[in-house]
Amino acid sequence: MTFKFAYIKLTIFYTLIIMLISIVFSLILYQISFAEINQGFDRQIDKLRLLPPKENSIPIPFKEFEQIRQEQIKLSEKNLKNNLFYFNLTILVISSFGSYFFARKTLEPIRKIMDSQKLFTSDASHELRTPLSVMKTEIEVSLRDKNFDLSQAKKLLTSNLEEINKLENLSNALLKLAQYEEKEIKFDQINLDKILHQAVKNVIKTADNKNINIKINSQLIEIKGDQDALTELFTIILDNSIKYSHTNSKIKIQIKKKKNSALVSIKDYGMGIKNSDIPYIFNRFYRSDPSRSKIKANGYGLGLSIAKRIIELHKGNIKVTSQLEKGSEFIISFPLI
Ligand code: ADP
Repeated sequence: MTFKFAYIKLTIFYTLIIMLISIVFSLILYQISFAEINQGFDRQIDKLRLLPPKENSIPIPFKEFEQIRQEQIKLSEKNLKNNLFYFNLTILVISSFGSYFFARKTLEPIRKIMDSQKLFTSDASHELRTPLSVMKTEIEVSLRDKNFDLSQAKKLLTSNLEEINKLENLSNALLKLAQYEEKEIKFDQINLDKILHQAVKNVIKTADNKNINIKINSQLIEIKGDQDALTELFTIILDNSIKYSHTNSKIKIQIKKKKNSALVSIKDYGMGIKNSDIPYIFNRFYRSDPSRSKIKANGYGLGLSIAKRIIELHKGNIKVTSQLEKGSEFIISFPLI
């Protein structure tokens, strides 16, 4: 509804501007044409007056001529006014349609941003409400239980702590997303190999817990980028590779140059992603259907949207290839400057 009003307001605004210009030009044109018609008649009479009198010729009836001149001027004035009126009417009709078209074009990107913002807020509130509801129900049930003892209290607190951890992870992810939306990147000379080793260090415990072996095959490549943001990016991708892999698996990292780009490939041999899901995995809060796999992974579907934003900030690109139950490969490219 708000947007319908905005479309109409902008259409009226555009039309008014066009009509103002058209009317001003019409008035100027009217003045010039009217003066020209008058002067034309004056010149005609002056020329007639200067004609040398011919023998036997009838004298020119200047009085009648003046009368005809007045009539012609009135007629021309009326025609001129009519023509300018219809011209402006046509401009009004065309500019109204044109303005509506351009108003839609102007406001469409803003409408899309607002829609995605709305969707984001409702998804975020839903995710925040779920752990809160779980905690509330557990606490209410425990308070009603007259035989509530110490061991049950410990169980309750442990479960509450789990939900609090989930809330903490979610708010951290939301905060990061907001930070990277606003962030101005400070570009330093970065050694990609160093960044990837740091990212591996960040996830090594989780990988060890699942007995997943991580191999890095790299060469010295430097790009311009933000050290913290890039470490965050590769940590997210590696964390996913571990999360969505079975135990006793492996992950291969390769860093190489191709033409004017630096390529980082992170390949896992885990559960893979359905082809139809691939276009959506970078959307906020999007998670592939978890029921199709034995791997139960926690998450909110925010990791890859943060990763994508970091790649955008570095003018890079990300491609995903994946096969169900065979694994996935994420290839990130950065321009070499
Ligand atoms: P999260 O992992 O928290 O759910 P992400 O935004 O990091 O959120 O990922 C979105 C979805 O993409 C995941 O839910 C998962 O279905 C899919 N995904 C991402 N990385 C992988 C991977 N390496 N293997 C299989 N699926 C993946």
